Amino acid sequence: SVELRDVHVRFGTLEVLRGVDLRVERGRTTCVIGPSGSGKSTLLRCVNRLQEPDSGDLLLDGESVVRTDPDALRQRVGMVFQHFNLFGHRSVLDNIVLPLRSVKKLGKEEATEIARARLAEVGLADKAPYRPSALSGGQQQRVAIARALAMDPEVMLFDEATSALDPELVKGVLDLMAGLASRGLTLIVVTHEMGFARNVADEVAFMDAGRIVEQGPPAQLFDNPRSPRLQRFLSQVL
Ligand code: ATP
Ligand code: MG
Repeated sequence: SVELRDVHVRFGTLEVLRGVDLRVERGRTTCVIGPSGSGKSTLLRCVNRLQEPDSGDLLLDGESVVRTDPDALRQRVGMVFQHFNLFGHRSVLDNIVLPLRSVKKLGKEEATEIARARLAEVGLADKAPYRPSALSGGQQQRVAIARALAMDPEVMLFDEATSALDPELVKGVLDLMAGLASRGLTLIVVTHEMGFARNVADEVAFMDAGRIVEQGPPAQLFDNPRSPRLQRFLSQVL
């Protein structure tokens, strides 16, 4: 499981996370929804410690990891961003091989073997020698996902992974993410794709103003929202 306990984050006088509790069981998928600026990205960044909380705890499989080596944690918790964050001057293959070598300290042959297997999994085996700029946005995002998967993480975080994509490219990436969910990875997915949240998530958490206001199975949140803030949010996005 992955768990945040009473996490607070402040930027100056602005309290961006105001006591967030979130627990995702192993193999489960939680989607985080909510208005812009509500703290969704900050929450996600706390889970791999790109953001260090001012207070609160982060646990992986019941063990606190707030005072451990963040690089070791990031091998266990992969993240995929809206804007891919690929190395533009390197081949698609190298984008996956280089972190395996530098972070996991693998030899060239083993790293290359893993990278090719992961590329094949996301349907891009033939793109290995190209620069990322030669690929569509959807393909680049699948490379970023393959790169994260290559580290063999226990948890994957997605921060609006499809928001920068042309509409016709969104489905391929969402289908890939749904495949990961059904394969038993633990996912935390910040998304505006309400169809994905409804169909793929085990739980949905609605954030507003730095708090999780409501959380539960998708059917409950989407069909029976209790808080007026969630009702208003859904009336705007559905
Ligand atoms: P969006 O849907 O637009 O991506 P979000 O829910 O992901 O929004 P966050 O990016 O977590 O929201 O930001 C929450 C609040 O924290 C915002 O008011 C934002 O301006 C502020 N914030 C985020 N990062 C920083 C930072 N590094 N320094 C100062 N303020 C920040
Ligand atoms: Mg965000």
